[in-house]
Parts: sequence; structure tokens; C-alpha cells
Amino acid sequence: MNGYFIFFKRKEKKTMNILDGIGETLNNAYNDVSKKAKDASGIAKLSYKIKQKESFISMQYGAIGKAYFEDHKDDAEPAYEGVSLVNDALKEIDELREELAKIKGAKKCPGCGAELKGEPAYCSKCGTKIEYDEPAEEAKTEEASETESKSEDFFAE
Ligand SMILES: [Zn+2]
Repeated sequence: MNGYFIFFKRKEKKTMNILDGIGETLNNAYNDVSKKAKDASGIAKLSYKIKQKESFISMQYGAIGKAYFEDHKDDAEPAYEGVSLVNDALKEIDELREELAKIKGAKKCPGCGAELKGEPAYCSKCGTKIEYDEPAEEAKTEEASETESKSEDFFAE
């Protein structure tokens, strides 16, 4: 009876030691995982902050560039090729807008370039009188009468 008890006690002690060992290992593993998680969130936070600052700088570069462009867009020989490139691109955009307006059937004011809605007699922005293409026959008679009046003027002098 006594011997059995001792044996049991020893066994219990051994088991405890093993459990202690497992507990320690698990604890170390947990600490390791939580440290890694902390590192990961720290890395993510820092990377995010760096990205934010970088995009902030990009925005500032853009603003500085735009201000520089506004100051130098009319330079005969701009110090930076980018100024000419932006000027070219702006011209192209104007041409593309004109093409788009034609497709959409809209007419542009010859005075200020504003897109006209409908068929107004005058531009609502600058007041320029808007001429519309007359039908072919009417245009011909107009041309003819113009030539007549011109020759009349010629002989009158
Ligand atoms: Zn106009």
C-alpha cells in the first residue's frame, strides 16, 4: 500500500513536471506570437505613416509644380521641359473638347469658347453674336449680293 502510494506520488510529480514543461513551452509560444503580432502591428503602423507622408509630399510636389507652371507657362524657353509638355497637353485637351463638342452637336462661342446650349442668338457668357450656318441656297444668294454690292462700291469710287 505504502509502496503504491509512493509510486503514485512520484508519477504525479513527473506528470506535473511534464505539464509544467508544456505550460512553459505554450507560454513561450504565446509570448513569441504576441511579440510577433506587436511587431507586425508596429510595422503596419510605421509603413502606413510613411505612405501617408509620401503621398502628402507628392501632393505638395504637385501643388508646387502647378504654381511653377502658372508662373512660367508663357516663358519663351521654359527651364523645365515639363512646362512645354503640360502646355502641349492642355492644347490637346482643348482640341479633344472641341471634337467632343462637335460629336455632341454643341457649338462653341467664337468669342470666349464657351459651349453653347441650344441655339442662342448671343453668348450668355460674353455676349458675342452667334452666327449659324445658313442653308446652302441662301448662302449662295448672300455671297452673290455681297459681290454685287462690292463691285458697286468699286465703281462708285
Ligand atoms: Zn462667349
